[in-house]
Amino acid sequence: MTVVISADKARSRRICTSAPLIDPFGRRIDYVRVSVTDRCDLRCTYCMLERQTFLPRADLLSFAELDRLCSAFVDLGATRLRLTGGEPLVRKGFMDFVAGLSRHLVSGRLRELTLTTNGTRLARHAEGLAAAGIRRINVSLDTLDPDRYRRITRGGDLGGVLEGLKAARDAGLRVKINAVALRHDNADELADMVAWAHSEAMDITLIETMPLGMVEEDRMDQYLPMSEVRATLARRWTLASLDVRTGGPARYVEVRETGGRLGFITPLTHGFCEGCNRVRVTCTGQLYLCLGQEDGADLQAALRGSDDDGALTRSIREAISRKPRGHDFEISRRGAAPAVPRPMSMTGG
Ligand code: SAM
Ligand code: SF4
Repeated sequence: MTVVISADKARSRRICTSAPLIDPFGRRIDYVRVSVTDRCDLRCTYCMLERQTFLPRADLLSFAELDRLCSAFVDLGATRLRLTGGEPLVRKGFMDFVAGLSRHLVSGRLRELTLTTNGTRLARHAEGLAAAGIRRINVSLDTLDPDRYRRITRGGDLGGVLEGLKAARDAGLRVKINAVALRHDNADELADMVAWAHSEAMDITLIETMPLGMVEEDRMDQYLPMSEVRATLARRWTLASLDVRTGGPARYVEVRETGGRLGFITPLTHGFCEGCNRVRVTCTGQLYLCLGQEDGADLQAALRGSDDDGALTRSIREAISRKPRGHDFEISRRGAAPAVPRPMSMTGG
């Protein structure tokens, strides 16, 4: 019997097994961040409006579509996948989705599956995440003061997050804390947070606010340059630079006195684009080639247009061939419009 393969199928097979994703600047794209929802149980002041309007459910990719999308990237050589949101753990069916993706870990094609979460539902899900092959997670936490936490997140309960962190560690997950540096809300507390994280055997990364999406507060008021934070920390500790490059915007030091690792994410004060190895996909299937640029591709159309993955992989490849060299964020004028109108909760942090 002769098996006839259509030209389209043959092309799509060639694409799946051909070269890895290399952008015009020779950067290999092997790290994908996928946002699974724009919804969240918190309303952090720097991330969302108090009365945030969420997308119609029909616009979100289903978990079956998200699985196809992630698997297409794995076919194209992605070795690391980070799931984010919104808050990934609030979406019903998320744990089954993660369990399904773990087949790529078992096959060895995916080196790492990770998650960024606000931690509010970790107590319930930490064990399940570990069982699905997740080894480390990032938990976002900007303060250890319950009142400040409630204010920054507009109503969140710090106690639940601390319980979640304990559950994560009990389940054997390595945790990195991500804290956004905010001039008025936590500047005076960042050193204590570093000491706390290291005493609990967690790494911690401090992040500058980025001009993404519309929020009520003026970003110039919130903005705290990492150079200032670092100088303050250096008065208390010895910060020894580590030669760790993740392909992302973080630079790491070891705090000699605690022995722990501390990261600084400085997208606004330093370029970090030259070694960029990543792309992001929103919960609606929009591929963004750079956190701070609009260039991308509509993968939802490719996913919904055909059951065959040919169009999807072609669309991904074509987009990567347009990946820009870098971003041009700027927080220079009071009241300036955000550099990128979509919030972090859509693109995924
Ligand atoms: N809800 C999850 C969480 O908070 O970890 C995942 C999504 S959240 C958008 C991912 C990360 O983006 C969090 O660490 C958050 O602090 C950060 N983030 C949100 N908006 C930001 C902004 N405008 N500038 C800098 N970081 C931001
Ligand atoms: Fe939700 Fe994360 Fe945005 Fe906070 S930073 S509102 S937890 S998505």
